[in-house]
Amino acid sequence: MNIFFLGPQGSGKSTQAKLLSEHLNLPLVSVGDLLRKRALVSDDVGKTLSEVMNKGELVDDDLVDQLVEEELTSPRYSKGFIADGFPRTKEQARKFSFSPDLVIYLNTSDKVGIERLLKRGRQDDTPEAIAERLSIYHQETEPLLAYYKKEGILKIVNGERTVEEIFEGIKDKIKDWEKSDDIGKN
Ligand code: AMP
Repeated sequence: MNIFFLGPQGSGKSTQAKLLSEHLNLPLVSVGDLLRKRALVSDDVGKTLSEVMNKGELVDDDLVDQLVEEELTSPRYSKGFIADGFPRTKEQARKFSFSPDLVIYLNTSDKVGIERLLKRGRQDDTPEAIAERLSIYHQETEPLLAYYKKEGILKIVNGERTVEEIFEGIKDKIKDWEKSDDIGKN
């Protein structure tokens, strides 16, 4: 079973994806983590990555695609995975050779997201980079919601609650989905 997380910056995707990964015993693929790790290599690609990420811009689709596909060739993902931060563009969704069974959308306003990120204080959590990431999110990533909704696999969860409440909301959606899947099978 493959589950993707979508939502704006600060919606709690990473936190919830990690919790769900532990709960379902499925490995987590965090594209941001993969990219941050790659950025530490001191070569041209690493340097470009650091610059792009610190500005809050999206990394080139081909490079992201290559990194993610490479990672997913590992047998540890053969039973499925939880994806955090991928896909972020329609182009990535189209090219990717794995499709989601379920997409969890953490519905959160920009205002709440910004407040959370400023408290977190990661290297790319400057007001400028956050604004850039949100603007790109609305332009490039948000259209994916309609795409997955049309496929009937989008689950919307209110992301403006506590970590525990959001996680309960996610588990409820998964239970509903499993039930409807059973009905489909009978
Ligand atoms: P995240 O850890 O998901 O907040 O991502 C941090 C940064 O990594 C983003 O601002 C982008 O620069 C880059 N990034 C993460 N995922 C992707 C992706 N799927 N496509 C392009 N860039 C990405």
